[in-house]
Amino acid sequence: MSSISVRRIKKSFAALTILHSVDMEIEKGEFVVILGPSGCGKSTLLNVIAGLEECDEGQIVIEGKDVSGLEPSERGLAMVFQSYALFPAMTVRRNLSFGMEIAGTPKATVAEKVAWVAKLLQIEALLDRKPGQLSGGQRQRVAIGRALVRSSSICLFDEPLSNLDAKLRAETRVELKQLHETLGSTMIYVTHDQIEAMTMADRVAVMHKGKVEQFAHPQSVYEKPASLFVAGFVGSPA
Ligand code: ADP
Ligand code: MG
Repeated sequence: MSSISVRRIKKSFAALTILHSVDMEIEKGEFVVILGPSGCGKSTLLNVIAGLEECDEGQIVIEGKDVSGLEPSERGLAMVFQSYALFPAMTVRRNLSFGMEIAGTPKATVAEKVAWVAKLLQIEALLDRKPGQLSGGQRQRVAIGRALVRSSSICLFDEPLSNLDAKLRAETRVELKQLHETLGSTMIYVTHDQIEAMTMADRVAVMHKGKVEQFAHPQSVYEKPASLFVAGFVGSPA
């Protein structure tokens, strides 16, 4: 059974078709990167999977269950955005625990999960600080932690590193891959950065104008691009 099935998803905004019948089968534990230029529909696709955006046609199936009509909170996944949107007035600890508290998670479980994720992401020393007292990289870790305490089995990332400088981006890439290995979770990672895609992905979905042009292992995308667009975008040798 696939972890996530994206079936014939269509989406328009007014007269503009943004997604033209997108299909993807994502296996359990896979790290899938959705790669494409700005405006090609990556965020829209991720938002449709997460339930933040309704599609016009098609189906999203998560672990065998059609979730098309379900609210984002009912889909059992976690999402990390480019802008981390932490609560500035709350401590890191509270930022991590808040979602669980409003969901009525028992106190002991909340404390356990916060401790687990703080250790995992090495932010234990930061728990009593507020976001304003953190660096960009530290804030992004907290945002990742906040997603992981909600669901560590399926995580969606929308350009989570694009606000970081090149060095920190490279480091965080490695850490995120390690996290993926440790958790064995299914991850979908959206980026316009070819290097990120080629170094991180088990499979890359290359998007162009609302279509997935190729969905394959990074090496086959590079060596056997399915179209001129793909070849140009990933810089395949001519
Ligand atoms: P990407 O994430 O690949 O940069 P998006 O999915 O954000 O692309 O956007 C794809 C296209 O859809 C763009 O042309 C964008 O302007 C348009 N779009 C996205 N969201 C909306 C919206 N809420 N209303 C109208 N147009 C939108
Ligand atoms: Mg986007």
